[in-house]
Amino acid sequence: TPHVTTGDTAATGAAVKAADRAHVFHSWSAQALIDPLAVAGAEGSYFWDYDGHRYLDFASQLVNTNIGHQHPKVVAAIQEQAARLCTLAPGFAVDVRSEAARLIAERTPGDLDKVFFTNGGAEAVENAVRMARLHTGRQKVLSTYRSYHGATAAAINLTGDPRRWPSDTAAAGVVHFWGPFLYRSPFHAATEAEECERALAHLADTIAFEGPATIAAIILESVPGTAGIMIPPAGYLAGVRELCDRHGIVFILDEVMSGFGRTGKWFAAQHWDVTPDLITFAKGVNSGYVPLGGVAISAAIAETFATRPYPGGLTYSGHPLACAAAVATINTMEEEGVVEHAAHLGENVIGPALAEIAERHPSVGEVRGLGAFWALELVRDEETREPLVPYNAAGADNAPMAEFAAACKASGLWPFVNMNRTHVVPPCNITEAEAKEGLALLDEALTVADRHTTSA
Ligand code: PMP
Repeated sequence: TPHVTTGDTAATGAAVKAADRAHVFHSWSAQALIDPLAVAGAEGSYFWDYDGHRYLDFASQLVNTNIGHQHPKVVAAIQEQAARLCTLAPGFAVDVRSEAARLIAERTPGDLDKVFFTNGGAEAVENAVRMARLHTGRQKVLSTYRSYHGATAAAINLTGDPRRWPSDTAAAGVVHFWGPFLYRSPFHAATEAEECERALAHLADTIAFEGPATIAAIILESVPGTAGIMIPPAGYLAGVRELCDRHGIVFILDEVMSGFGRTGKWFAAQHWDVTPDLITFAKGVNSGYVPLGGVAISAAIAETFATRPYPGGLTYSGHPLACAAAVATINTMEEEGVVEHAAHLGENVIGPALAEIAERHPSVGEVRGLGAFWALELVRDEETREPLVPYNAAGADNAPMAEFAAACKASGLWPFVNMNRTHVVPPCNITEAEAKEGLALLDEALTVADRHTTSA
């Protein structure tokens, strides 16, 4: 095994890569077919390799570095906490844990005033589902097809995206339904209002035929992220809230990706003034500097576990280093107006630029988003809306998207690419100049996608 030393040379990069290839088993990958980039360092909206290539991170890693890399205030907070107290079991009262919980609870809507900490998003979903089942005494959970909720047992079953398929046999009590998505409307609707009405009627039917008294929870991403950044039509989330209230169903909003400023609000549900019973969060809560996630819990559900023990826990629940990073991240976002900046970017920089890009590129079928959370739906034909690559394309079938991603990377732009979409999800504190630089590179790379269209 090559021994990795520090240094900024191409030789070191090759050694880092060889060491990775020797012993690291990567997520979602055929191990022999991947060639991970060896990263030497990162700062703000950029990271760089050992060969002198710098990349503007339009993916925020996995849509989690909401205040960019190596923010000095967060780095200092982690260092100070490490010097003071690295770890403590979840059963103790710890100042940074309580402070992180307070800062989070103060930003969630309604009476979601208690926080259960996890190490990431999937564990947050697992625990939200457990809480809902115990609170209602029911088993089934409803989720949408176009969704991603994590890769652990319940979370991957709730996920609608094809990554669920190999794990489907483990599904117990999971029912999928269609959420609203006008561009590819499952309801053949022509307007947002029609899409909303039909999507709610479809959910009402699903509830009726599954049996309301068997349904513990409905889980939705406030704005589905990985599945395509579909902004729900006005009235949809409020309509789901109403159905949940009518049938005693727990409403879980998964804000793992959409939370902590990503959409220009602390939580995306706040765009529509909707309060769920549980919110799952992770990622942006501390910009990903130390693994952290959690569930924000309503007073009524917290009450269920006031005298009856909550049967769930994790060794690292509310880890001091992760909580110190969360406290510093949230305070930094307030001090630097990062949430407002994300809203400004969406309204005045990213949104207008993407609308203009869509006009000029035949491969861009639709642009949608808000804040620092945008998707471009790439198509072969703007009229038929045939996706640029088939659903869940792999290998040669996926060549157009692979070519597009390679063009982005060659130009110094690190893109988020999934199926026939590319997402523009930079750090929420990216400067206007950096955002414009990235949008110009994206514009250029889209000419590669255009070559695969028939409507050009
Ligand atoms: N929910 C949503 C909405 C997500 O986007 C993700 C991660 N992309 C998860 C849950 C799972 O989070 P994690 O990878 O931290 O387990």
